Amino acid sequence: LPEIALSGRSNVGKSSLINKLINRKSYARTSSKPGKTQTLNFYKVESQLYFVDVPGYGYAKVSKKQREKFGQIIETYLTTRQNVRGLISLIDGRHEPTEDDVAMYVFAKYYDLPVLVVATKMDKISKSKWNRQEKIIKEKLDFNPVDKFVSFSALTGAGKEQVWEWIERQCEIG
Ligand code: GDP
Repeated sequence: LPEIALSGRSNVGKSSLINKLINRKSYARTSSKPGKTQTLNFYKVESQLYFVDVPGYGYAKVSKKQREKFGQIIETYLTTRQNVRGLISLIDGRHEPTEDDVAMYVFAKYYDLPVLVVATKMDKISKSKWNRQEKIIKEKLDFNPVDKFVSFSALTGAGKEQVWEWIERQCEIG
């Protein structure tokens, strides 16, 4: 089955995105405790694809050694799995991308992986600021126009359809 990888710093809203996409409240484990996800988690979606939850990064209390281990898991995954069709990179919509976010984007581009950048928690900022945030994030990432950007809220469901459209296109389903 095709696979879509999801990355983002701990607490960015990855579990909430997965749950919203598949309309469940507690399919993916959501937690307010950052740094919990340390291995790859696979979620099979309706026998059509897998979401692959790559370990959350940027958790301050994680040692350098552990961070390198995360990096290796991600690199091994993205470079050896045959079925990975794209990366959804989650970035907190209220802030600039972190260095890890930028590194992840550069890394995906290096391996020619299509990327969907999802700005999360957008219900927390006024809609008039959405365009400005999009611009800031794209600038910082040196965003490639072949990729896609979606403003998302797990609370309101904003952006959900666009995310699904991108997934279906990458996986040639739907
Ligand atoms: P993960 O660690 O990346 O999987 O993050 P979670 O999905 O567990 O979310 C972390 C926290 O942010 C939780 O308290 C969520 O309820 C909250 N959260 C996630 N997405 C949103 C969103 O779109 N809007 C709001 N207001 N809160 C969110």
